[in-house]
Amino acid sequence: MQKNWAGNLTYTATEVAHPSTIDEVRELLASGGPVSVLGTRHCFNDIADTEGILIALDRMPREIEVNQARDAVRVSSALRYGDIAPELEAQGLALANLASLPHISVAGAVATGTHGSGDRIGSLASAVRGLTILTASGEIRQLVRGDAEFDGAVVSLGALGIVLDVTLDVEPTYQVVQHVFDAPQWDAILADFDAVTGAGTSVSIFTAWQRTDAADMLWIKQRTPDQRAGERRARRASGRGTSGR
Ligand SMILES: Cc1cc2nc3c(=O)[nH]c(=O)nc-3n(C[C@H](O)[C@H](O)[C@H](O)COP(=O)(O)OP(=O)(O)OC[C@H]3O[C@@H](n4cnc5c(N)ncnc54)[C@H](O)[C@@H]3O)c2cc1C
Repeated sequence: MQKNWAGNLTYTATEVAHPSTIDEVRELLASGGPVSVLGTRHCFNDIADTEGILIALDRMPREIEVNQARDAVRVSSALRYGDIAPELEAQGLALANLASLPHISVAGAVATGTHGSGDRIGSLASAVRGLTILTASGEIRQLVRGDAEFDGAVVSLGALGIVLDVTLDVEPTYQVVQHVFDAPQWDAILADFDAVTGAGTSVSIFTAWQRTDAADMLWIKQRTPDQRAGERRARRASGRGTSGR
């Protein structure tokens, strides 16, 4: 049977179905047995598992739709962050935060409260401004930020139904500079832990299990404005000047 990504868990489900339309998903829901929805199988535990059918949405239509205001994107729930980020980047947009992996599904990550690192940036769920959910009875429900049930529905652990699409906040794209420090001493890190974790947009401290005096690595990522946006503006400005004079 199907294993999770790490290979340390074998799902007990009898079948993995790959519907490609909402009607096919509805048929699976109406089949009577227990079902659960599967993302990209990165959970280390059996939260996605069921004794019946696992429904994977990876063959559903692929949609990435930026709104007119260019401050949100609606994406099919099975898409991975690694699918979305380059398409946003091509449009000069970005998400505020990512987890450590590009190949986890948006719905699975959001449903489990997946987070990146950084003192001042929210978890991936905090970017969600809307959800379309197919309930067990086959009804489609739309929830948006501000609705009474919205906050509880975002980190649903897969328990409320099948999330078909997710609308995420986006912002103008930016660059990230990363500084890597080898074997930083724990004494130095713990002397002012808040200063270390607050030293960048995202800070990761990797443990070296073989030694106690120092961590393995410290990564500090810092956002910088997108230089290319400035270059694009500069090119446009000089173009206008050339043709106008
Ligand atoms: C190597 C590795 C690195 C990781 N790094 C991080 C990290 O940096 N930060 C962090 O916080 N976590 C991290 N994780 C954990 C990972 O982000 C979570 O396990 C996340 O849930 C994975 O998403 P998935 O799509 O694989 O979900 P799955 O494991 O497939 O499913 C997880 C849950 O989401 C539900 N679900 C999936 N799709 C839908 C849907 N369409 N509708 C409704 N419910 C759905 C499932 O039913 C299940 O309950 C890491 C995991 C691994 C293996």
